Amino acid sequence: MKGKLLIFSAPSGSGKTTLLNHVMANIPKMAFSVSATTRAPRGEEVNGREYYFLSMDEFKQRVENGEFLEWEEVYPGRCYGTLLSVVEQMQDDGKHVAFDVDVCGGVNVKKHYGDQALSVFIQAPSIAVLRERLIKRQTDSMEEIEKRLAKAAWETEFAQGKFDRTIINDDLETAKREILEVVQAFLEEE
Ligand code: ADP
Ligand code: 5GP
Repeated sequence: MKGKLLIFSAPSGSGKTTLLNHVMANIPKMAFSVSATTRAPRGEEVNGREYYFLSMDEFKQRVENGEFLEWEEVYPGRCYGTLLSVVEQMQDDGKHVAFDVDVCGGVNVKKHYGDQALSVFIQAPSIAVLRERLIKRQTDSMEEIEKRLAKAAWETEFAQGKFDRTIINDDLETAKREILEVVQAFLEEE
């Protein structure tokens, strides 16, 4: 049987990366769908591992060629997209594929794959907690944090009723347990 699809969407700072890494470490045969983006690499990011880093011209060319399963201008001037070839290669290799995409991408990938995909929205308990986590993480300026928080309110509103599951990431150990249970149950379904 072909691998299944696991979609993670969440406002920045909700704990999506933390929970996705937990799932990847505990579920065999799970591969990460490496997206393409026009933003520059950050910190230790490596081309082909976190993202395929493309120029805007290259990205647009691939859009024209119909190479994307979905793509969005997630932030002004910064495009992100899922390459069909990447997902197909992983499925051909017998893997389940995990996606880290914004809420619009999450809804679109789910539409494309239907019951073969599980879409999960990860939510922090409140905007105040989200602010605290982003400040503590120390990867973004206060200006960037305020932008992400403003977007978080919109994303949370948009996501209501559009995802298969919502996980509130309050206590981390509880959220880790819950996500593993949800994913394992989904992978065991026929
Ligand atoms: P995202 O990928 O959604 O932006 P991260 O996984 O980077 O979020 O998490 C944001 C920050 O919050 C990180 O510093 C992470 O260690 C921390 N964090 C994640 N989950 C929790 C939690 N349940 N309680 C407290 N801190 C958390
Ligand atoms: P970051 O720049 O912090 O890595 O990611 C910013 C946002 O882009 C996150 O919400 C992430 O989920 C989203 N994103 C990453 N890859 C894709 C993609 O292929 N498609 C869509 N729609 N969003 C993506």
